[in-house]
Amino acid sequence: MKALDLKIPADLDEAYDLLNSRRNATLLAGGLFIRLQKKTHPLLIDLNGLNLDYINEIKDGFIIGAMTNLRSLEKSKLPKAITDAVKQISGIGVRNMATIGGSICGRYPFSDINTALLALDAYLVFYKKGKMSMKDFYENGLDEKDILVEIYIKKPVFSGTKYFKKVYTDLSILNVSMVDNRLAVGARPGKTLVIENFNEADFDKIPFGDDYRASGKYRKALFEALYQDLLEERGAYGS
Ligand SMILES: Cc1cc2nc3c(=O)[nH]c(=O)nc-3n(C[C@H](O)[C@H](O)[C@H](O)COP(=O)(O)OP(=O)(O)OC[C@H]3O[C@@H](n4cnc5c(N)ncnc54)[C@H](O)[C@@H]3O)c2cc1C
Repeated sequence: MKALDLKIPADLDEAYDLLNSRRNATLLAGGLFIRLQKKTHPLLIDLNGLNLDYINEIKDGFIIGAMTNLRSLEKSKLPKAITDAVKQISGIGVRNMATIGGSICGRYPFSDINTALLALDAYLVFYKKGKMSMKDFYENGLDEKDILVEIYIKKPVFSGTKYFKKVYTDLSILNVSMVDNRLAVGARPGKTLVIENFNEADFDKIPFGDDYRASGKYRKALFEALYQDLLEERGAYGS
């Protein structure tokens, strides 16, 4: 990756104007995935000066700033679906840099955190567009250039995330989040699927595919095991 120019705006207005000032202007959060690209960026806009690193507990939920890193999420009192999802993402060094906003805006199909946020039915707040459901954004993206400011999640009764990785630091072969009566199944390897009011009779309809990590058949067997683990955890929790 090469950057021809780097700006560090002091507020959202300035960041938004910079983003829309050039066709190829790119927002930079943790920068971990941007750095992997073989691309020359005419302008990178570093979001680190915007004070978007916070987790605020409110009566019925939490508000998380887009620049909050995964290590802060892991150490927080956020619902278990999130803390479970982030605790085995790569190593602590990566979790200290990777942000929740970068994970959401990348819309990565392998993402453990996106599966948890979809099960939590999170909603997102963009600077100009305002509120949008995580599901809508994950499936359709945005039709304009905008900045994700914060994420809102409600407190669930039960929530948990399970995944299977070949080795600790690898991407998940499959991830499953359960939040009350909603289930999200990701890294299938396609995009995360959300099932409302899940019923075991519907599980045969979940498509699992093959890739270099695992076969669809293996993923289906994993799903059944991870789902049982979540049910047991929910039973132990008393819900
Ligand atoms: C070695 C490694 C291992 C990983 N393993 C896992 C794993 O096992 N599970 C997992 O879920 N994830 C994993 N990840 C991904 C990681 O969790 C993050 O999703 C990823 O690093 C992107 O976050 P970032 O802050 O670095 O975003 P960046 O790379 O800075 O940005 C990503 C994209 O989002 C855009 N963007 C960033 N912030 C905003 C914003 N506020 N508004 C609008 N657009 C924005 C950027 O322009 C860019 O297009 C891994 C990453 C690495 C490098």
